[in-house]
Amino acid sequence: MKTPMLSEHFSFDELTGCDKHPALADKNRLEASVFTFKLSELCHKLLEPVRAQFGPVVVTSGYRCPALNAAVGGVETSQHAAAEAADFIVPGRDLVDVFEWIRGAGLDFGQVILEPGWIHVSLGEPYREAGKCGQALIYNGKNYRNA
Ligand SMILES: [Zn+2]
Repeated sequence: MKTPMLSEHFSFDELTGCDKHPALADKNRLEASVFTFKLSELCHKLLEPVRAQFGPVVVTSGYRCPALNAAVGGVETSQHAAAEAADFIVPGRDLVDVFEWIRGAGLDFGQVILEPGWIHVSLGEPYREAGKCGQALIYNGKNYRNA
């Protein structure tokens, strides 16, 4: 079955799957269906520009319904739970380079976090409070610090 596309290179399935909890994937996709517009914004505004600069992007987590968010230990206020954030890697590229590029590329992002092994990026206004947009953090698995 062909999955609907959210943008030229990113599919609905890619932004709503969960490798670590396959049993929750169907439920997650069902609940994600009302968030298609926001997921599409996420792809157009953030993921496509990263792909254009660095090559194919692999999304490891996008929308998380409450059950999935709890299963992965996400906080309830996570932008993942609002279909406003994605975690991704860029195979063969140094995540530090990708992180630094996102910070300086003039993208309209809410938050970018260099996580241990992936990058978290979220939508900015009007989805995230203006004063909290453009925030860049580094997380070492225990603590966040400003980049
Ligand atoms: Zn994340």
